[in-house]
Amino acid sequence: MAVIGGDAAGMSAAATARRRDSDLEIVAFERGPYTSYSACGIPYYIGGAFDDSDRLISRSPDEFRSSGVDVHTRHEVTAIDLDQRELTVRDLDTRSERTEGFDTLVYATGAEAVAPPIPGADMVEPVRTVDAAERFRNTMLRRDDTCAVVIGSGYIGMEMAEALVGRGLSVTLIDRLDQVFPSLDADMAGHVQDAAESDGIRVLLSAEIEEIRHEGGRPRAVLVDGEEIPAQHVVLATGVRPLTKLAEEAGLELVAGAVRTDDHQRCPGFDGVYAAGDCVASWHRVLKEPANIQLGTHANKQGRIAGANATGADIAFPGVIGTAISRICRYEVARTGISEREAADAGIEVVAAEVKSTTRAGYYPGTGPIWVKLVAEPGSGRLLGGQIVGVEGAAKRIDVLATCVWTGMAVSEMELLDLAYAPPFSGVYDPLLVAARETAKALAGA
Ligand SMILES: Cc1cc2nc3c(=O)[nH]c(=O)nc-3n(C[C@H](O)[C@H](O)[C@H](O)COP(=O)(O)OP(=O)(O)OC[C@H]3O[C@@H](n4cnc5c(N)ncnc54)[C@H](O)[C@@H]3O)c2cc1C
Repeated sequence: MAVIGGDAAGMSAAATARRRDSDLEIVAFERGPYTSYSACGIPYYIGGAFDDSDRLISRSPDEFRSSGVDVHTRHEVTAIDLDQRELTVRDLDTRSERTEGFDTLVYATGAEAVAPPIPGADMVEPVRTVDAAERFRNTMLRRDDTCAVVIGSGYIGMEMAEALVGRGLSVTLIDRLDQVFPSLDADMAGHVQDAAESDGIRVLLSAEIEEIRHEGGRPRAVLVDGEEIPAQHVVLATGVRPLTKLAEEAGLELVAGAVRTDDHQRCPGFDGVYAAGDCVASWHRVLKEPANIQLGTHANKQGRIAGANATGADIAFPGVIGTAISRICRYEVARTGISEREAADAGIEVVAAEVKSTTRAGYYPGTGPIWVKLVAEPGSGRLLGGQIVGVEGAAKRIDVLATCVWTGMAVSEMELLDLAYAPPFSGVYDPLLVAARETAKALAGA
């Protein structure tokens, strides 16, 4: 078995195949220096939550080798021949090229950052890998820098802005949209923007960046709507696209801009060829169509399923609903299913309600605000999505909402769900129950 891509999806596939078949020859190619690293931890490493980048590596190339997976780091696959069952592989250190045969293949190349069409953006290195994070952090610390600009206010941009402001840098967060955190509806995103601004992050929305100016190969300033904002560091977090070039050239099918697989992670039309992770489209259980949602949760599960099915198992990946969580400044921010805006974009009629509540009983010390917004289907009352922003407890609650969306529970049934209660954790009516009641009322009035 050959694996292209040595991170979450690829190495989950390799490790699962190894566990299931101790005799199988498994070879994995990774163009970077590390395997099984946690990109998710990069903002916390940059922010100084820990100093040793090794802690981002969950399993090193040597650990894989000692379990019998023949890992080649700094090796890039440059072509796939599905008729000959052969990969062309370039050793990035020696620049030599060779071919490697395979019986089964797991394609797990992930996604790449897309530089926006702004002069100077192509000179900014994306901070998506451990080695890029090390370079970024080392430069920042060595030079005692004072200012940074983050472009793009999705969860990665906001986590990076928080990390940099926590380091004492003056940080400007810029987006061309009119709200931060586009996976939330604007009303919920407003709370996140408030939190960022009260931590000292300057937020510029509906902004047109004209240029990223460099000097001596380093960023110097960002020109936005005529203002030159000093920036010794620029973080580009303007989106990523699935790395599909090799797959396309080999004849694999694409859908939703990503590699098409069936629910067993098989690439249709090619026996023994699997794909998993950020490079594939997954079945979205609410939108009822394939969608490319790039999250480590899916990559690990899909990789494990690909590795198991490649070694004779029969496991289906049941799809995704876009559940995600992040901590942005003083708030936990979480979402699942579809937002009101996503529903409108997809032409799905919904009813929505938002409530503000408290994270603990009103009298209990440390209580703080929490907002819950629910989106439901008129008629059936089925929960289609939920968003939570609050000082704590969003993580506990979003998983309840995800389970309700997943099982298609109606908000009227949610209203009386037997959720846990004690004063340090919520009011006697949990904010989710209050939100379900308000949504049921809105449905009745719709
Ligand atoms: C800063 C940051 C924070 C994140 N936070 C979260 C989070 O909190 N929660 C969450 O669920 N997800 C998070 N993610 C997303 C998560 O990291 C990804 O979804 C996950 O890493 C995807 O795994 P993957 O194996 O599909 O792809 P990748 O992690 O992109 O791995 C693909 C690998 O393939 C290699 N590769 C590509 N092409 C070739 C080739 N031709 N030859 C050899 N090697 C190749 C690449 O070098 C790469 O190492 C975050 C991502 C980033 C960047």
